Amino acid sequence: MIIKRRERPMKIKGYKALLARMPEHHPKREMIQDLLYSANAGIGGEERLDECLEYFDPPYPHLIIQDLSLPEKCQIDTLVITQQAIIILEVKNMSGKLRLQENPSILIQTLPSGQVKSYKSPVVQMETAKIRVEKIVNQYNFALPIKTSLVLAYPSQFIENVPSHVTVWSADEVLYRLYRMNYSNPLITIDEMDRLGKHLLSVSKPHNPFPLIPNLKINPDTINKGMLCPKCHNQKMKRLKRHWHCPYCKLSSYDAHLQALDEWFMLFQPTISTEECMEYLGLQNTLSASRILKKMDLEQSGGKKFRQYHLKENHRFQ
Ligand SMILES: [Zn+2]
Repeated sequence: MIIKRRERPMKIKGYKALLARMPEHHPKREMIQDLLYSANAGIGGEERLDECLEYFDPPYPHLIIQDLSLPEKCQIDTLVITQQAIIILEVKNMSGKLRLQENPSILIQTLPSGQVKSYKSPVVQMETAKIRVEKIVNQYNFALPIKTSLVLAYPSQFIENVPSHVTVWSADEVLYRLYRMNYSNPLITIDEMDRLGKHLLSVSKPHNPFPLIPNLKINPDTINKGMLCPKCHNQKMKRLKRHWHCPYCKLSSYDAHLQALDEWFMLFQPTISTEECMEYLGLQNTLSASRILKKMDLEQSGGKKFRQYHLKENHRFQ
């Protein structure tokens, strides 16, 4: 049973919004494009595994958590809990030739163009995740072994120099590998398994990648502010009586500022004042800024003069 389903990572929306506001020749443009590309490839690989496990119906009780974020930035792509083991699945969806290197452990990717890139080793990532999960399991005194497996999203992908203690599966074989696991000697009861699943979900806290501009050490003055038209993107919309108007494509919108303000929180900073809002949206005065901010479902802090608005914890970005 899947007890938590995967959601598309928010950072993808953030990278797209950042690129839309970044001048063509910005020195960090390529870096953001790379980040967007790998975030898309990552979720693509994870969704491919989800598809392969969609009809997973083994003869034993089990729980599946898609995308588990444990404290200290420990992210697990898919976690399977059974009465006999916990299986951590780390998905890779990367093109070119992949090679695992040890001492130090890194993953080397050679692209068809000949370009060589190196990444954190997924083996180190899985082993670190294993220690974190072990700590939680130990709190319950469960003698549950924790296994790890690196999953390659597509059959065309392969990885060289895999150390003998590391298991690598293709996404297509995960279903039958899990299905064939021994389940004749349960080490915990179904209730205990459920309790463990609930506990893992309760400590799961998605990593907040925002605001991207300070986090990625970009100078905020180099990024375009203002109301970008949601239709033609590159023109600044004007505030007319109670609505926004794009002088270029003639789009008229009552609520285009909602997306622009979401972008403020994703990109610039976690708070906004009426002055900042006025300047950012290109409004004539603080009164219209204050009206717009008050209508939004935001938290407020500070007195009248220094009021700051910030997002509620459960905010859904546009
Ligand atoms: Zn437009």
